[in-house]
Amino acid sequence: MKDLQKLTLDDTFQFACRPGIECFNRCCGDLNQFLTPYDIIRLKRNLKCTSGEFLNRYTTHHIGPRSGLPVVTLKMVQRENLRCPFVSEAGCTVYPDRPGSCRIYPLARIIQRKPNQDACEEWHVVIREPHCLGFEEPRGWTIREWRQGQGVNPYDEMNDLLMDIISLKNRSGRTGLTDRENELFYLACYDFDRFRDAVFEKRLWEALPIEEEVLKALAEDDVALMRFGIEWIKKELFAEELEKEA
Ligand code: SF4
Ligand code: SF4
Repeated sequence: MKDLQKLTLDDTFQFACRPGIECFNRCCGDLNQFLTPYDIIRLKRNLKCTSGEFLNRYTTHHIGPRSGLPVVTLKMVQRENLRCPFVSEAGCTVYPDRPGSCRIYPLARIIQRKPNQDACEEWHVVIREPHCLGFEEPRGWTIREWRQGQGVNPYDEMNDLLMDIISLKNRSGRTGLTDRENELFYLACYDFDRFRDAVFEKRLWEALPIEEEVLKALAEDDVALMRFGIEWIKKELFAEELEKEA
């Protein structure tokens, strides 16, 4: 990925994806499809299930070798040539709530925070895979137009909230978390319905200064809960680093 050309929002690329194209659905299988917390919120809402049901049925998780944090990936369907569980003959069955990386494809957004700096560097790359015939279509886009058309912005905004946790962990110098910490991270960042129960049963909201309105929102708004969960994890796991910064 690091050898690919860095593109700005005004750079252009030629591409179109449409039903009827010979490679239709070819990109929806044999994937290492990472899911972010916000992807899970959108997918569970689309499928009208709890986070626990979604995670058990459709995902697997491991510790990311680079981040050292729990990572959730979509389980491909073994008996169907490792197809994504959501692909059908007619295309993606969760299209309005498809994950951020599916939306932005064939682009990828790279975001990098330099050591000891708050500002992030951000750029895009085009991923040209041999099976994808979309690059032979005549339509041209700027990166900005493609992003807008695919509704990527809210996904990036939510996903960027995790950057703080990653940089706190990097600054801590720890290569990984303890088993208990991994469980807490998984609970707060992925298993939202179980985390909601814990927030209210164990009064976890007392750990942070929280306004009455936000507290009410935690009871039913998954995005509010995700924002709270990220702040809670920062405090629970990296209190020492936060104190050094204060
Ligand atoms: S979620 Fe939808 S777009 Fe993404 S890989 Fe699965 S079927 Fe394809
Ligand atoms: S392989 Fe490329 S052109 Fe074909 S369906 Fe997937 S994204 Fe579209």
